[in-house]
Amino acid sequence: MLEKIVIANRGEIALRILRACREMGIKTVAVHSTADNNLKHVLLADETVCIGPPQSIDSYLNMPAIISAAEVTDATGIHPGYGFLSENADFAERVESSGFTFIGPKADAIRLMGDKVSAIAAMKKAGVPCVPGSDGELKDDPDENLRIAREIGYPIIVKASGGGGGRGMRVVHAEASLLSAISLTKTEARAAFNNDAVYMEKFLETPRHIEFQVLMDTHGNVIHLGERDCSMQRRHQKVIEEAPAPGISDEQRNRIGKRCVQACKDIGYRSAGTFEFLYEKDEFYFIEMNTRLQVEHPVTEMITGIDIVREQLRIARGEKLSYTQEDVKIQGHAIECRINAEDPKNFMPSPGLVTLWHAPGGPGIRMESHIYSGYKVPPYYDSMIGKLIAHGESREVAFARVKNALNEIVIEGIKTNVPLHQEIFQHAAFQAGGTDIHYLEKRLGLT
Ligand code: ADP
Repeated sequence: MLEKIVIANRGEIALRILRACREMGIKTVAVHSTADNNLKHVLLADETVCIGPPQSIDSYLNMPAIISAAEVTDATGIHPGYGFLSENADFAERVESSGFTFIGPKADAIRLMGDKVSAIAAMKKAGVPCVPGSDGELKDDPDENLRIAREIGYPIIVKASGGGGGRGMRVVHAEASLLSAISLTKTEARAAFNNDAVYMEKFLETPRHIEFQVLMDTHGNVIHLGERDCSMQRRHQKVIEEAPAPGISDEQRNRIGKRCVQACKDIGYRSAGTFEFLYEKDEFYFIEMNTRLQVEHPVTEMITGIDIVREQLRIARGEKLSYTQEDVKIQGHAIECRINAEDPKNFMPSPGLVTLWHAPGGPGIRMESHIYSGYKVPPYYDSMIGKLIAHGESREVAFARVKNALNEIVIEGIKTNVPLHQEIFQHAAFQAGGTDIHYLEKRLGLT
């Protein structure tokens, strides 16, 4: 029963999963590429298996190599982390049909939520508020599509059902460009996602990004852990996340949280998941579900005291959730800064040798990072090298702690976005709370 698992990921999240396993007495197998022999969790794991060359497609995305690694090491489960194969339904299916436990939801749930049209239909059924839009996939009927758009009202956004990572979307401001936008998005979607289904939604102009964390076990128990605000973004990539979201009332949290819980029951969910919403003028609009652990899970852990990775592992062992909804109490405020190896001005990746590393500390500070002095950041993967999380009894205290920690942190040899974070924490608008998803790009003069 999950005595040993394969960690099918790298970097900070692989280390995070390894630590949770250690606490629970679960043995770990680190699978890694030839570029990652010196990753911290690879050095700490019980066993290691090299699964291929540096390029992700040959290693961290190489399904047969990962499953073989589980076979040769007698592991019984596979944790996919985030990114890579974590939301690949075919992988989840192959893991389970090979006799291993996939530490995440069932393949069916991943598939259902990975297709936006079917995800929205499932959410509507559960009473989760969605963006006003076409009821499902657009048909090849120009007059009807013009009519639907007129009814929704411009601006609208045409989205590919199979889209992801911010791709396969097109904003339309006036009727004259609607039909060409639909056909262009369809053509792109066919090429990129092998699925040309597209749909329409009202385009919200100044929304915030607010998401709800859920956990569901295999006994039908579901809880939500409240929300996170992830509106501080650049190119759809989150830069700073916080929990709870400024200005969200208990009534709103309970109401939307309950709908997310209902949706989990309806779709037969399992493990950790996140419902992402756009939030504008006091209304929530579901946009998508992430069927995996998320980068920003620590801010929720800090305000609830619940270890989300441990719960994932317990759920995978067939155990019941350790908490009921009544047990979930939000305490204080937490903020996370994503630390990237990149130039803080032009955002160019900055891989290379870390000549000196000093982690920040003090009350309420949590540093999730795999780097160490002498570690070489390889050029092949995502540039995130760590997450700085601060918790305090209030948002003000959490802010003060983040600022201290950003001043303390020492990373020499490579460039990082620490100066960008230092700048953002000086912004009065951010201090006030509630900035929208376009705030950062506008403020940095990027749009
Ligand atoms: P992906 O799966 O590609 O991440 P999402 O549906 O989550 O796609 O949308 C990604 C981003 O696109 C959102 O975070 C938001 O910034 C923008 N977006 C998506 N739908 C809308 C909408 N209806 N109105 C305004 N912005 C939107």
